[in-house]
Amino acid sequence: MKKLIGLLLLFLVILTAILWIRTETVFVDKQLQVQQIERQLPLDKDAVVSRLAKGIQFKTISYDDPKQFDDKPFIDLRRHIQQSYPLVHQIAQQKTFSEHSLLYYFPGTDKTLKPALFMGHMDVVPVDDATLDKWQQPPFSGAVVNDVIWGRGTLDDKVTVFALLESMELLLQQNKSFKRGIYLAFGHDEEIGGYQGAAKIAEYLQDQGIEFEFVLDEGGAITQGIIPKVEQPVAIIGIAEKGIVNLKLTVDSQGGHSSQPPEHSALGILSEAIVNIENNQFDTDLTFSKMTFDAIATYAPMSNRLPMANLWLFEPVVSNVMLDTPSSAASIRTTIAATMASGSSKSNILPSQASAVINFRILPGDTIETVKQHVINAIDDERVVVSDFMGTEPSAVSPTDSFAYKLIEKHIRQQNNEVLVAPYLLVGATDSRYYNALSDNIYRFMMIRLDPDGLTRFHGINEQLQVTDYLSAIRFFHAVLQETSGVSVPLSAN
Ligand SMILES: [Zn+2]
Repeated sequence: MKKLIGLLLLFLVILTAILWIRTETVFVDKQLQVQQIERQLPLDKDAVVSRLAKGIQFKTISYDDPKQFDDKPFIDLRRHIQQSYPLVHQIAQQKTFSEHSLLYYFPGTDKTLKPALFMGHMDVVPVDDATLDKWQQPPFSGAVVNDVIWGRGTLDDKVTVFALLESMELLLQQNKSFKRGIYLAFGHDEEIGGYQGAAKIAEYLQDQGIEFEFVLDEGGAITQGIIPKVEQPVAIIGIAEKGIVNLKLTVDSQGGHSSQPPEHSALGILSEAIVNIENNQFDTDLTFSKMTFDAIATYAPMSNRLPMANLWLFEPVVSNVMLDTPSSAASIRTTIAATMASGSSKSNILPSQASAVINFRILPGDTIETVKQHVINAIDDERVVVSDFMGTEPSAVSPTDSFAYKLIEKHIRQQNNEVLVAPYLLVGATDSRYYNALSDNIYRFMMIRLDPDGLTRFHGINEQLQVTDYLSAIRFFHAVLQETSGVSVPLSAN
């Protein structure tokens, strides 16, 4: 007995030693070591802010119902952009798509360099009437109060469009010819899928045989308090995004009067199918969480590093902890969301057909086909017919050692050395997905700060942007555009 306890103790000592040694040695500091640089751009702050604020006032809303589409705000916004950025419009080759999406091309002199593409979108989601009285400033006021710009689009995504235009206009004032060609693409229907905007632009560019050195779109941001127990701000750069597919489940039956029902109606069969799918969740995969953590591990507390350094032992525990919160659960597996259902149109009529729609967000590694197969197996009932619609495969995974990733990383850290940089998986979808065939290096990042409060304002109430954040976004784009285009600019950087 004594011997057994002795052995057990020895085992525990060795295990603790292994866990501890791994915790202390597995991770190295991955943060790029750069000097912080104070970049002073010759910007007229008030004018810069008022141009974005005015841009917010145009109700460029994307509605699910195409009948609600109003083209006037889009025309007005475009006129505002044309008037505000004269050099951009003088120098760029321009093309519109589906009337409202805009593409600008600034050719480069060195044809051996692949061009780069910077993206944003001009449309916004509607504001729910029921929430209007909760807005501290009206959603399309573009009010500027105490150095905060208010309204729909200040975060998603007029900030990107205007910050890109401001920085490009300034760069052109300083230098009119680039070595590397630069494209700017602004879609007008991102919030409803980008089918008329980004999809058409990408198709056109692909027809032209263009390949991009990199593509930069909205997505990540500088997060604060979003990664548990990491106190420093973390800039997360999207290196991949999940795919989407809707599966429609249909059950046909006799129908008839509800006074003489069969034991299981079409709706009952359908309900069982949905429950079976929900009870057969997809496997978890910590690949992206590991990549994110790896980049910032040495800045994380011991309590985080211990399990992450020893996933050989703790992977199930880590997965379970992440599954507890829907947002982190979404980053480690393909998600299942039953969103729509219909039966008969009257309370006393049995449905002759019942149907439901389930929306899946597909983790890279899964595909539309594997999702469909998983669902068919989970249902295991031939009466339920499964068909897919509006599917997009998950994106490819862009590397973290490319010119573009390093460039983005460098300029984040140069602006603020406190900010850590890490790659991550976007659980939503962006217009950049249409560029999968046009570049191996697609990144999703916007230089704004987002705390948990800020996250709720995306598509929510009181969407707002600090003026300091807007200026920092402009400085960031200016630096990235400058280095990408290969021009030297007499900056008053010191
Ligand atoms: Zn957006």
